[in-house]
Amino acid sequence: MYLSDYHFHTLCSSDSPAPLLQQAEAAIAAGVREICVTDHWNLLDQQGNRLPTVYDWEPSLAQWRELRNRWPGQLELRLGVEVGNGVLDPAAVDASLTIPELDFVIGSLHSQSAAAGGRGIYTVARECAEKKDGTAILDDYMDMLEELVQTSGWDVLGHVIYPLRYIPPEYELDLHPWWDRLAQVFRAVIAQGRGIELNTSAGATVEQWRDVLELYRDLGGEVLTLGSDAHRPQHMAAAFPQALELIRETGFRWLCVYRQRTPLFCKVG
Ligand SMILES: [Zn+2]
Ligand SMILES: [Zn+2]
Repeated sequence: MYLSDYHFHTLCSSDSPAPLLQQAEAAIAAGVREICVTDHWNLLDQQGNRLPTVYDWEPSLAQWRELRNRWPGQLELRLGVEVGNGVLDPAAVDASLTIPELDFVIGSLHSQSAAAGGRGIYTVARECAEKKDGTAILDDYMDMLEELVQTSGWDVLGHVIYPLRYIPPEYELDLHPWWDRLAQVFRAVIAQGRGIELNTSAGATVEQWRDVLELYRDLGGEVLTLGSDAHRPQHMAAAFPQALELIRETGFRWLCVYRQRTPLFCKVG
């Protein structure tokens, strides 16, 4: 089948040391036919400080232009971006997403709401002292997800299970207490013709997606991308065999790639 990795980072993201060349070569070695580089543009840092609301495309564009035609017929290389907490300034996000080379935008929430302090969920989740701290993180996260779905600056919602990556597993939290609200978010995504992603988080999360994918599929969701969120070459396409099995088991027949912010449907073999 035509395998794609639609979420990974390079040294244009502050938390990745990987040149695009290394990521692309790792994708080819993993049998991937198309990749879309989605470096970070976060509107908040981990401490909750505001970051620039104009995205500097030059570093991203430069490395993409250098390599985009390097592997004809072997690897299609597309340009995207992962916007973190775009809900803070949707107009500014839209204004930076106008370059013609842009194929794909992931809308993610990496930080708490401004009302909750705006610190990184990664940081806050590690400070949880009891289960109700984890519940509070998820409450705040769902509030923001409902806001994000009303904005235009994204094509798929990034890693919707994100806080569960970092909330201590012994609290056994999942998204079921917020299930009706998540369903409403998915109904809006579907009505807009947009989508969600299955994000394997470098191979760490696959099975946690089962219920979420079932809900999305039951509601009529069709637009789905697959991404490893690799920040290093060894994680490109991580856990894709298991992810593809899950995608088939939950009733999806297609995986999407993007051209100019529009999904193309590739059959899941
Ligand atoms: Zn992310
Ligand atoms: Zn990412």
